Parts: sequence; C-alpha cells; structure tokens
Amino acid sequence: KLSISPLRKINKTINSYAQAKNKEIEALQKNAEFRKEFIADISHELKTPIFAAQGYVHTLLDGAVEDKSVRLKFLKRAAKSLNALDKLVQDMLTLNQMESGVVKFHFESFDLKEVIHEVIEELEHKASKRDMLIRFYYDKEKTYRTFADKEKIFRVCQNLISNSIKYNNDGGEIDVSLKIHKNQITVEVKDNGKGIPPEDLKRIFERFYRVDKSRNREKGGTGLGLAIVKHILEGHKSKISVSSTLGKGSIFSFELPLEKEEAVVSSNKLIK
Ligand code: ADP
Repeated sequence: KLSISPLRKINKTINSYAQAKNKEIEALQKNAEFRKEFIADISHELKTPIFAAQGYVHTLLDGAVEDKSVRLKFLKRAAKSLNALDKLVQDMLTLNQMESGVVKFHFESFDLKEVIHEVIEELEHKASKRDMLIRFYYDKEKTYRTFADKEKIFRVCQNLISNSIKYNNDGGEIDVSLKIHKNQITVEVKDNGKGIPPEDLKRIFERFYRVDKSRNREKGGTGLGLAIVKHILEGHKSKISVSSTLGKGSIFSFELPLEKEEAVVSSNKLIK
C-alpha cells in the first residue's frame, strides 16, 4: 500500500522551492526595471547639457565665430553647459556608488560648528551676490562635537545651504542653527524662499526629481543633491526631515549624536 505522507512531503518541498524561485525572479525583474528606468533617466538628463553645448559650438562653426562679441558669449555658454555636464556625471557616479553600497564612510571626531562655518564661508559670496544674508546661530559656550564622516557631512550642509540660496528670492534670509537636545545635535537650515508644494515634498529626495523641472535645471541643479544627502545620512543611521510652506519657505534638518568630551579624552588616551 502506498503511503501518502512522503508524497505530501515532496509536494511541500517542491512548493516552497517554487515560491523561493518566484521571489528571486520577482527581485530580478524589479532590479531590471530599476536599471532600465535609471538608464532612461540618465540619458534624458545627459541630453540637456550635451545638446546645449553642441548647439553653441555648431552655431560658432556655421559662421558666428567671425563676430567677436558673439564668439565670446557662445563660448562662455558652451563652457557653462560642459560644467553642468561634468557636475551631473560626478553626482551620478557618487549616487550610483552609494546605492550599490561601495562607498566607505570614514568616521572621525570633529566639531560641527567648524564644518558649518567653512560651508558658509564658501557659499557667502553666492548669497551676497543676490543680497541674501546667511545667519548662523549656536551657543558659543558649547562644543558641537560629533563622530561622523566629516567630508560627507560637509557635503550634506553644503547641499542644504546651497539649495536655500538657489530656491530663495533675491534679498532672502537663511538661518542655520545648531541645537543640542539630550545626546543629539540638530542641524537646521531655514529659508524664507519659494517653499515646496505639499504634493512634491515626499518626492524631492528621489533622484532627478525637481519641483519646477525646466527652471531648476537652469539654476544648475542636477536633481541629485537631496538623494545624495539622504544616502549620506542613512550611512550615519540618521535621516533628513523637511517642512515647507509654499511661498513662505522651507526648513531642512537632521540629527547627529553629540559626543561627550569625556569620551573624546578617553578615546585619545586609548590612541596614545
Ligand atoms: P537640485 O540639484 O535640482 O537642486 P536637489 O536634489 O538638491 O536637486 O533638490 C530637489 C528639488 O527640491 C529641487 O529641484 C527643488 O525643486 C526642491 N528644493 C530643494 N531645496 C529647496 C528649498 N530650500 N526651497 C525650495 N525648493 C527646494
């Protein structure tokens, strides 16, 4: 007499194997779709600066090169498009490396206020050209020491402050502040610029997502900055928060752990 139970067992094994394989196939399909979409996005984004530079160069070759004033103007525009192309390729490489997890983080101890001072110094001339003021609030008595990847956190602050200038009105205000609450330091970048519509707010961290597509591209944005910011903060087990009111302005903030002075002293002792 044939026993039914070994057959059931075989059937169960086959079923769970099929289920696992189905899941694998689904994941592969999803990955293939993601890649297809990514490549479509990339080619679309690359075309804009390439076509622009090509246009200027061809117009020059077609005769505009004879006119001295036109020559200079078109060469400058072609150079600007090529710079945008360079920035785009660099950002794409960075994001791709981050998404595939090959980027290494180099953690060290440093004071956040020094990093932010450096970022403001770098961006001040951009702001003052448009009559904007960058104010920086922190408690002079305190240190804002954290343990993080300094270069990458510089990049996060650079991106947020640069956006608060880019998407602000001439004469606008930018307030950067550092606050300590319990064992966390909060970095906040606030502007009184254009703001972001609620329906776009969730999507601004996606690669290539821009609120005002053509205008923002003109401003020199790659649409990758906030996606990179998000990845860098994820690498620090932190996340970026945003609140915004259309026509009034936006606030971007993130937290990093506060490193206690005693911890710094003892880790220095250990190194010695
Ligand atoms: P971009 O390179 O275009 O600036 P980001 O990834 O840095 O790309 O930002 C994505 C989009 O989010 C921007 O195109 C812009 O529409 C919007 N955005 C970012 N920061 C601000 C801000 N401070 N105020 C208004 N809009 C902003």
